[in-house]
Amino acid sequence: MQVYYSNTHQLHNPPFELFDGGQHMPYLENPERMERVLSALKERDWAEILEPDAFGLDPVLAVHDADYVDFLRTAYEEWTQVKTPYEKKALLPATFPPRGWSRRPKSLLGRAGYYMFDLSAPIMDGTYQAALGSINCALSGAKAIAEGERSAFALCRPPGHHAGKSFCGGYCYLNNAAIAAHWLSGLGKIALLDIDYHAGNGTQDIFYERGDVLTISIHADPDAEYPAFSGYADEMGAGQGSGSHRNFPLPAGTDDARYLSTLREALTLIKSFAPVFLVISAGMDLYSGDPLGTFSVTREGIQQIGKHIAALELPSLIVMEGGYNNAALGKNITTLLKNFI
Ligand SMILES: [Zn+2]
Repeated sequence: MQVYYSNTHQLHNPPFELFDGGQHMPYLENPERMERVLSALKERDWAEILEPDAFGLDPVLAVHDADYVDFLRTAYEEWTQVKTPYEKKALLPATFPPRGWSRRPKSLLGRAGYYMFDLSAPIMDGTYQAALGSINCALSGAKAIAEGERSAFALCRPPGHHAGKSFCGGYCYLNNAAIAAHWLSGLGKIALLDIDYHAGNGTQDIFYERGDVLTISIHADPDAEYPAFSGYADEMGAGQGSGSHRNFPLPAGTDDARYLSTLREALTLIKSFAPVFLVISAGMDLYSGDPLGTFSVTREGIQQIGKHIAALELPSLIVMEGGYNNAALGKNITTLLKNFI
């Protein structure tokens, strides 16, 4: 299996994150995650680790708003110019617009509040470069399956599925899976299945009004979990995309059997949509031992999930999203991937 990986992700290494309650914590979405996955892949004889090609900005701008991408590109440099009495390692705003406030202020911190929806996507020196490296991995994997590979794995960091057309959050800046899915959509209908523990709110935002890309997310119920404001079962697309987005919210404690019966429902929808390619947003935080998760999905469950998805027999691009139990991450993702070789 072709695996695309770029070490540019190391340029993005936020020193902390703020948890609910204002608690400072080590950043869970850290570079070590990739080291763990890479070393697990290197132990497998089926993984061919490759450098991604550079695709430029066109595929990004086909999905994200130009003003948002420009903000990501310039924000850190602007931040170094702002005079403040405190240290400025990362750009993070403290003011966010409530319902009905739609103005985009001129000030950098105003724009940061406008484009960020939470406190977990700080912008540092190197964040934009890392995000570009990550999308190049996803696009290189997309190109591989477009050219006839049965599957490819994009080892993306930062992850992408919380990033929308014009917003970042949840450790995500550019939506790797969505950019790859859009790029592939020039070749036919696409299904994008998101199995990360959290709702793929960014992917939902990007494809909500499109009928040519079926998006399905299976995740923790947002009524109880991050990202709280998106990912409910009654959000099913709009306009041309009416019916082509589906959310499957699941309760805390969801075990293998419950997860797999929901997955079967999702796979039935994908079959009847009859896509040409499948993109999988593969977050391993669905695993029982994840610090951000509440599911009881075992490694055997992950094996079964992979087996059922692979049985669709679609050319598949698997894109790395979350997963924060670093010790288990390598084994979990390779367990999933092995079904697609
Ligand atoms: Zn997640």
